Amino acid sequence: MSKPWIADRMHSIELSGIRKVFELARSLKDPVDFSIGQPHFDVPEPIKAAAKAAIDRGANGYTVTQGIPQLRDRLAADVQEKYGHADRAVMVTSGTSGALTLALLTSVNPGDEVIVFDPYFVSYPHMVTLAGGRMVPVETLPDFEIDLNRAKQAITPKTKAILVNSPGNPTGVVLKPETLRGLAELAARHDLLLISDEIYHSFCYDQPFHSPAEFHPDVLVVDGFGKSYGMTGWRMGFAHGPKRLIDEMIKLQQFTFVCAPSIAQHACITALDFDVSSVVTDYRQKRDRICAGLKGHYDFVTPAGAFYVFPRVPSGTGTEFVEKAICNNLLTIPGKTFSTRDTHFRLSYAVPDSTIDRGIEILRRLARL
Ligand code: PMP
Repeated sequence: MSKPWIADRMHSIELSGIRKVFELARSLKDPVDFSIGQPHFDVPEPIKAAAKAAIDRGANGYTVTQGIPQLRDRLAADVQEKYGHADRAVMVTSGTSGALTLALLTSVNPGDEVIVFDPYFVSYPHMVTLAGGRMVPVETLPDFEIDLNRAKQAITPKTKAILVNSPGNPTGVVLKPETLRGLAELAARHDLLLISDEIYHSFCYDQPFHSPAEFHPDVLVVDGFGKSYGMTGWRMGFAHGPKRLIDEMIKLQQFTFVCAPSIAQHACITALDFDVSSVVTDYRQKRDRICAGLKGHYDFVTPAGAFYVFPRVPSGTGTEFVEKAICNNLLTIPGKTFSTRDTHFRLSYAVPDSTIDRGIEILRRLARL
């Protein structure tokens, strides 16, 4: 029965391909799960202790919208030391998703265009839709590097923002500093907002992390704690950028998310002092392990960051390949979840080494089918 309850915008928002895989996975016994985009390690003990202490001291109420001063000041000091921009303000958000949602709702008018690079993080198209905008995908095949000329050609009088993500989900590609500089300058020349999603900043294996904010003060950065500290469920993120924009985002957060989770905010002060280098070393080895296992069997770009590989399917579509993989007890995500094409699939290697090895065996078999 048709009812008028559902808003029109919901017709263009589909259930994520990732959730569909989760649902299928429930019927499998001990599958090799390469589908989940989160670290396999638990929250480090000192950070857990800080969260428990916050509960026990009664830090359980609302906080100020922009984030508790101890955390916000600490983040601001780090940001100031790195970029030294006179006008850069910081806010604490409910996850990186919260920061992205606020960023787009604050900057995009209905009908505005937002340039994203294809393949892109699964939520980008839907967040742009929510803001009333239109996503304009710019192709990055075959190497998933950004071609600045293609980006420039995608700009129209309706373009409002460019969204970039490095290290990237789903490709694991880390963009070169000169590409980030080029993008920041392109955005500035055309008066566009460059939004940089830096949630995987800790996971850079072959070169240091770079942000486009190093090259232009107007860049808006969204970032988060979930991946670096294994706390995706704690819903902690932050944003920094030009003060006028951050002030608007704080205003909107007041009436939507209200504040980031209080307990997690307190624990994140401790998280910022926690050294994640051993995790990064571990994940670099996992990257090497899976790439060595797939080499010669699949066509893929060796990822320099995040914890994903995005190989081309050997035949058929990404969706067909993922269905075949599920029949072989392996869970992955079809490329069309992240792209206008259905030619690839995403593997997350944030799993124990033994799972990587089991997965490689299945994938090699699938490549021969
Ligand atoms: N951006 C990217 C590129 C991501 O991969 C994710 C999480 N998978 C997010 C944003 C959302 O992060 P959070 O859980 O902090 O909302």
